[in-house]
Amino acid sequence: MNEDEAYDYVKSTLKKERITPYRQEELEYVKSVENCINCGLCINHCPVVAAVGVNRFSGPRSIAVELSRSPPEFWSTADIVYLCTGCGTCREVCPKNVNIPEVVNIIRSRIFDHRPDLVPKGLFMVREILTKHDLAFEPWEDKDEKTESRNMRLERLRIPFVPDKFLENAEIIFYPGCQAEERAQEVREAAKIILDYFDIEYTLLEDMSCCGLPARLIGDEETARSLGMQLKEKVTKLGAKKVVTTCAGCTSNLSEISYNYDWGVETVHILEFIAEDIGLERLKEATHRSNELADVHVTVHDPCHLIKHTSRQIMEHALNILRLLDGVRVTESEAYDSCCGGGGLVSYHANDVATAVVKENLEAIEKTGADRLVTPCPLCTAQLETNLYKIGSSVEVDDLTVFIAQRLPMKR
Ligand code: SF4
Ligand code: SF4
Repeated sequence: MNEDEAYDYVKSTLKKERITPYRQEELEYVKSVENCINCGLCINHCPVVAAVGVNRFSGPRSIAVELSRSPPEFWSTADIVYLCTGCGTCREVCPKNVNIPEVVNIIRSRIFDHRPDLVPKGLFMVREILTKHDLAFEPWEDKDEKTESRNMRLERLRIPFVPDKFLENAEIIFYPGCQAEERAQEVREAAKIILDYFDIEYTLLEDMSCCGLPARLIGDEETARSLGMQLKEKVTKLGAKKVVTTCAGCTSNLSEISYNYDWGVETVHILEFIAEDIGLERLKEATHRSNELADVHVTVHDPCHLIKHTSRQIMEHALNILRLLDGVRVTESEAYDSCCGGGGLVSYHANDVATAVVKENLEAIEKTGADRLVTPCPLCTAQLETNLYKIGSSVEVDDLTVFIAQRLPMKR
């Protein structure tokens, strides 16, 4: 019996007790809770507490405390664990390294296993799409309509179409993620323009599937693991050394699962790839040759999944890239690194909370006086664009990958 089979056996024997044993990797997070010194820093910094108050969301420390209770009591936290956006701020400020975002995932998974009736209905809708299509968004039924929508987006953004590439032995895989594959198609296309312009030998996956992050957030560990393994098989079969993404959530999740499950493949966000593999000098030289666009004043949003779950260095790269683009002036927003409210699937069942969280961001963005907001994540782009529109703001929003692709000259 291997380790996974042994785990499944113990899990099935404890099912009637409504207990799911901890996996080895979960024990580290569970133990981290014992280190809490009740300093309260996490509560002071949590964006959900700030937005809706402790009566609606009692905060990260109280979630951590729940984990010290016996497993059947986990369900008493159902009213709060689904309101956490998973931003990672509490973990970042905690002096004792208590890993609350992971504790939230553990509790969500136990509720999913034993009290699915307490999982918000909106999350089950996402799960249905995931289990049916292996994607987090319903795929387009009519492929011609999908192509037409893509072409209209590219025309509006004035970026060209670069044909998809499917190679058998490329060292680099470009993985757009579900949102750029099925919704924000311009982000997928923009990444291809950048990679193609710099003659990068890359391939797309013939059969695109989700990295499993939404399933983890729902608490459906089985689907998350199965999607992760499915992806591992596709990636390792191609013999690739590196996966390039354009989504903050995919970057952090793929980095984590490929490390935990020993894929032997590095995952990087396209900003890192531009800065570290292509080189800023080459980008600068290329963008100097394209000067058709009007000057623009931008402000930047830092996605939590990049800065708090992966590395702050990625957004340093973003600023360095923006600084080298001709005609681009950057003003930092006071809330540049605060959560956009789009994480943790909160908007699928408690949009009022997600909207309250993003409010601080919107006010700070408006205050910069910028014409445009740029951010390197299609989920943050959609969340901020929708909410800026709702308040009647004139600030336009672009995914940063698109913003960069727009500034490259047409390849001859
Ligand atoms: S910041 Fe860390 S140590 Fe302080 S209360 Fe929160 S979990 Fe406990
Ligand atoms: S991950 Fe973010 S939203 Fe969740 S408890 Fe921590 S600070 Fe609050």
